[in-house]
Amino acid sequence: MTASIIDGKAIAAELRARVASEVARVKRDHKLLPGLAVVLVGNDPASEVYVRSKHKQTQDAGMASFEHKLPTDVSQDDLLALIGTLNRDPAVHGILVQLPLPKSIHTETIINAIDPAKDVDGLHPNNAGRLAGGFAALAPCTPLGCIILSKSVHTSLEGMNAIVIGRSNLVGRPLLQLLLNENATVTIAHSRSRDLPKLTARADLVFAAVGKPEMVRGDWIKPGATVIDVGINRLPGADGGKPRLVGDVAFHEAVKVAGAITPVPGGVGQMTVACLLVNTLRAACAIAGLPKPGV
Ligand code: NDP
Repeated sequence: MTASIIDGKAIAAELRARVASEVARVKRDHKLLPGLAVVLVGNDPASEVYVRSKHKQTQDAGMASFEHKLPTDVSQDDLLALIGTLNRDPAVHGILVQLPLPKSIHTETIINAIDPAKDVDGLHPNNAGRLAGGFAALAPCTPLGCIILSKSVHTSLEGMNAIVIGRSNLVGRPLLQLLLNENATVTIAHSRSRDLPKLTARADLVFAAVGKPEMVRGDWIKPGATVIDVGINRLPGADGGKPRLVGDVAFHEAVKVAGAITPVPGGVGQMTVACLLVNTLRAACAIAGLPKPGV
């Protein structure tokens, strides 16, 4: 048996097209131009790549994109002042502070300063709490992408056994909440969990968000399960060549057992920015008092 490959690239492209069409509609019917502000502190090369990609995709969707680049030694007070300005700016509906921040800055203080209505990364405690309570909230983008990918295979996740491996605030915990909202039965595992292979073998849906290259092996997977690999790990290329990206799942093994699986790259990573556009559009409509958009 060979799993079908879940094409994150195509699903993300289709989602971006739907966002662009809704953006065109709110511009035309409501004179609303959704705007996303991205704040980058320092010059971490990986973060710069992400920010460039966010900027381009925001513009391609027809939204306004505002980039704020600050030096590594910016003070926390200056960063807080910028967030205050963006919170008050009516042209800005979404604020994303690219993580990680330099060690001199207290990340939690920065996240807490973002207006929860503009918190398109879904990391503010108001949004995390609302999500945990089952209320409408801006949810983090990567877990939202995971749900969309799962639903590209299963129309409904109701009653399915899911395992989320990893419990970070960015991925594992919000994914647990989103899966509960879909009426899945969820196990959440972490570095202290016992017998992870056995826990994983019960699951119809496996989400790996660990940050350990190819940790989840093929013989952990229940035959026919859907495997969503969130991990992005850079390994040195053969003979010192270009680094290669691998996920948290041993793809070459899991693909022989699973029913459907996401590749790395070309799976979850593609969905994260697409869902950021969705969140920005949703935030803009909510702030303007419009109904939730059709994406
Ligand atoms: P974190 O490092 O914040 O969290 C990792 C989680 O994995 C922790 O909960 C940790 O457990 C758990 N863990 C670590 N080792 C083990 C183990 N041996 N067995 C079981 N659980 C373990 O990572 P993130 O959640 O931020 O990211 C996870 C992965 O997803 C990374 O590869 C990252 O690059 C990728 N990622 C991809 C994105 C995308 O767009 N595709 C976006 C965000 C992340 P404990 O809590 O006990 O320490």
